[in-house]
Amino acid sequence: MIIAGIAGIAVALWLLWQFRDKLAPPPALTGKVLYVHAIDVGQGDSYLIVTPERKTVLVDAGLAESGPRIVASLRRLDIRELDLAVATHPHADHIGGMGYVLEAVKVKNFLDSGQEHTTLTYRRMLEAVKMHVGRLTVAQAGQKFNLDNGITLSVLGPRQPWLQNVSGSDLNANSVVLRLDYGNFSMLFTGDAEDETEARLLSDQAPLDVKTLKVAHHGSRHSTKEPFLRAAKPEIAIISCGANNRYGHPTQATLDRLRRAGAKVYRTDLHGDIAIASNGVESVVTTARQASDAEIWRGRRPESASDSGDEMPDRRSGR
Ligand SMILES: [Zn+2]
Ligand SMILES: [Zn+2]
Repeated sequence: MIIAGIAGIAVALWLLWQFRDKLAPPPALTGKVLYVHAIDVGQGDSYLIVTPERKTVLVDAGLAESGPRIVASLRRLDIRELDLAVATHPHADHIGGMGYVLEAVKVKNFLDSGQEHTTLTYRRMLEAVKMHVGRLTVAQAGQKFNLDNGITLSVLGPRQPWLQNVSGSDLNANSVVLRLDYGNFSMLFTGDAEDETEARLLSDQAPLDVKTLKVAHHGSRHSTKEPFLRAAKPEIAIISCGANNRYGHPTQATLDRLRRAGAKVYRTDLHGDIAIASNGVESVVTTARQASDAEIWRGRRPESASDSGDEMPDRRSGR
């Protein structure tokens, strides 16, 4: 009996030892590590780039109520200032929280699509940029920001003349599109790019081949089309969208296209905050929550048939 008990304990200890590696966090990357954080801001976008030399870039700031969450993420990472903040386009689910961020954290440079919008949210953001940053750079394909030595952020779009009368939203179509490069790691930030944006990037022969793709427009059906995916060939695809969003983001069609393209998909509505770490050779993705493959590859349905795939309406625009 006693021997059986001892044997049982030994087996249990052996099993724990076997699982030790599986339960442990992924091995820390050696060398100089770059991080890209997809901050879970519900239905909206917010991405933070932190280089090994602590250069910081914030791409979008979610809806107005996301401001405190973004600032809390910055504080947690001990980030007191941002070298660059980017507003990909003036929809509320991308710039809503920007004013709050600009008030809380010193921002050295501000990059904007240059597209004006009639909403109070947009006007407030411009006022905050004027007051707290002092200057605004209008994005134009060809611009390049050197972050650390060997780490660059290139503007691939928009370019003049802006796309007009697209099938979806012109503001989305002229989103700032960025490419981040570090060794063999690269990432595309596509804002709410439309089909026409992708077609133009392809015809411009923009460098689209990347390791990681920030999927355009919360996984809407209007972009992330096959020709674009054939050029981008992402190994990792990140979708920012809210649980229970009424737009049906991400759509099944877009998830199916990503699956056929061989991308591993992560979603903020399922995984929460997502972080990609890379030392320029290897990349590791960590997530706040786990999700099953069945959940990841299942699209959401829009609440109504009129899924335009458009952004959250600006609730204050009527005032
Ligand atoms: Zn959006
Ligand atoms: Zn939008």
